[in-house]
Amino acid sequence: MFIIDAHLDLAMNAMEWNRDLTLPVSELRERETGLRDKPDRARNTVSLPALREGKIGLVVATQIARYVRKGSQLPGWNSPQQAWAQTQAQLAWYKTMVDAGEMVQIMHFDSLDTQIKKWEDHSVPDLHKPIGFILSLEGADSLVRIDYLEKAYAYGLRVLGPAHYGEGRYAGGTGTDAGFSEAGKSLLKEMDSLHMILDVTHLTDQGFKEALNVYQGPIWASHHNCRALVKNQRQLTNDQIRILIERGAVIGGVLDAWMLTEGWIRGVSLPKAMGANLNRLIDHYDHICQLAGNADHIAIGSDLDGAFGTEQSPYDLDTIADLQKLPELLSLRGYADTDIQKIMHGNWLRFLRTAWQ
Ligand SMILES: [Zn+2]
Repeated sequence: MFIIDAHLDLAMNAMEWNRDLTLPVSELRERETGLRDKPDRARNTVSLPALREGKIGLVVATQIARYVRKGSQLPGWNSPQQAWAQTQAQLAWYKTMVDAGEMVQIMHFDSLDTQIKKWEDHSVPDLHKPIGFILSLEGADSLVRIDYLEKAYAYGLRVLGPAHYGEGRYAGGTGTDAGFSEAGKSLLKEMDSLHMILDVTHLTDQGFKEALNVYQGPIWASHHNCRALVKNQRQLTNDQIRILIERGAVIGGVLDAWMLTEGWIRGVSLPKAMGANLNRLIDHYDHICQLAGNADHIAIGSDLDGAFGTEQSPYDLDTIADLQKLPELLSLRGYADTDIQKIMHGNWLRFLRTAWQ
């Protein structure tokens, strides 16, 4: 079944992890054996061939670079200008993938439809189809000034999540309590005038409230699970889920194991011992469906290349191609075929078509 994944950090993996994503996952792992500089070395689950194998023909792919003030404990760049330059290196990688026929950038209604038709055409083997990507910026720190958003829109940026981890220049992120700064509020207005998609993932509770009050355009939560099941500020409360449902948002279920099961300790817990498998994602889906009364607001935002690998992923997933196990698991949990199609791709498609019509 055709799949849309609304959160992958492909270019970060290419440029900072030095992964040639045109290679199979097995070759990337082999090449990284013995490396210790990143926690997920030799355990990655994502590459372009694996996406094709899993019929994941459309993804939302990020640019991501944080700015850090003196004394910050988080990794990042020491100036917004350096962070911007890093996102431009990431953009250059996406462009070379387009040039190579490996990927195709999706920026509007027509290119979206063309890409879907390409993947519906069974006369061409999936192995020869390009991976479509919608460009998203995770954390707005790298926008040196607000007018940089226009530059980014011009090269195809269509989604923006103002925050990531830590204090941000525009909005506080996960691990802080801060809402939007004055610059952040102006940024939201600018996004509104460009009719961009606002990604609320990584906003604080305060930031979420402010964004929902101010923002008029389309809103989604690209990679987000439920706080009722796994208590952490990074997850959505029931009230936030209800508000998102009212606004017609879609929530991408995330597969980072610590957000799936309660009590995960990073770097210590192991997926099998914690019972972290794909069924735990369906627990989160069930919870949202109960609040919504339907399956119209859940989808996939796997984050499977977000600085973790098999050590922090569901144990029944070896590569991202195993997302194809979800339809059967959903069926066993009682989901109707029409709902399964919505979760795998239909809900994101409806959202995008509505936003871009
Ligand atoms: Zn994230």
